[in-house]
Amino acid sequence: MIEYENLALLNQPFFAEFEKEFSETLKSGWYILGNKVKNFEQEFAALCQTKHCIGVANGLDALIIALRAFDFPKGSEVLVPSNTYIATILSILHNGLVPVLVEPSIDTYNMDASLIEEKITSKTCAIIAVHLYGKVCEMDAINRIAEKHNLKVVEDCAQAHGAKFKNTLAGNFGHINAFSFYPTKNLGAMGDAGAITTNHENYVATIKGLRNYGSKEKYYNDLVGFNSRLDEIQAAFLSVKLKHLDKITNHKRHLAQLYLTHLNSDFVKPVVHPDYFDVYHIFNIRHPKRDQLKAYLLQHDIKTDIHYPLAPNKQKAMIGILDTQPTPIAQLIHQTTLSLPISYYHTENDIRRVIEVMNKF
Ligand SMILES: *Cc1c(COP(=O)(O)O)cnc(C)c1O
Repeated sequence: MIEYENLALLNQPFFAEFEKEFSETLKSGWYILGNKVKNFEQEFAALCQTKHCIGVANGLDALIIALRAFDFPKGSEVLVPSNTYIATILSILHNGLVPVLVEPSIDTYNMDASLIEEKITSKTCAIIAVHLYGKVCEMDAINRIAEKHNLKVVEDCAQAHGAKFKNTLAGNFGHINAFSFYPTKNLGAMGDAGAITTNHENYVATIKGLRNYGSKEKYYNDLVGFNSRLDEIQAAFLSVKLKHLDKITNHKRHLAQLYLTHLNSDFVKPVVHPDYFDVYHIFNIRHPKRDQLKAYLLQHDIKTDIHYPLAPNKQKAMIGILDTQPTPIAQLIHQTTLSLPISYYHTENDIRRVIEVMNKF
């Protein structure tokens, strides 16, 4: 059986280092906002080449706090891709803001910059650019539009650790940017974890306050804050994993290259363009008979996944919220996309086997 993902196998090469960190943290007696978090924040900022990094509890909180830091008037509109993961939409709703869907490009699966301006109204306050599957959005065009209309930009980098557009790393394009370290992400913790990056010093104190009960000085609360701190133990694990991220990324890119080279043209493969350094958090293909293909692969002991089977505006929770915004391009993607195995633990032979079986479909 070739599994889609196996977190124990993915993390096995790092177990010895994790155990050392676990024991050290355990014995330190300091479990919340200590030196492990401080060190990881510095290391992750260095890795992303951003000026600041603030650790938080998870990726959704990173998005919620990023938006909260701007203090937009309630009811303001936020532009967001129609095919994103539900978390991006929820971060807007939990701030009392209104999600306005922008369709993706059918080539890159990221927000189509040429469709943004027609969605801008006098209430628009921000754009959330989601770097889906590990490909950065067309950030030069998006930032040009944002500047022209005086909008804030938030990057959702949950799938894009180390990804680049025109040699700039994800986490540097927006005003405030959100990362997730959910265990399956390219940089994954052993539980929930997240971070915010920014190059704008003026937001840092607010973000640090918001993650910790709105408190800048202990027991004094300046803001209506959250409890959304990155755990010391997760920060310790992440510092270990971060040292191996280049290796993880290169391995995934190598496996992606095998798919790109050898899968036949019945499958719509991800586009490759020299402006983009893609990190393939997800390697997806599209096929009109996606469900049959998925079942066929399973018969041949190959597990796949779908990111995502149902678009945000088709979710039950979004009835009365998003269901009035039709999104045919997102619909087409959700009906035809299939995610192939591409974990750090998969071997070249695993991928060759997937390719061989797929090419006979
Ligand atoms: C994983 C993910 C999130 C949410 O991250 P959590 O850590 O699970 O809260 C947000 N946006 C995207 C695009 C994601 O893939």
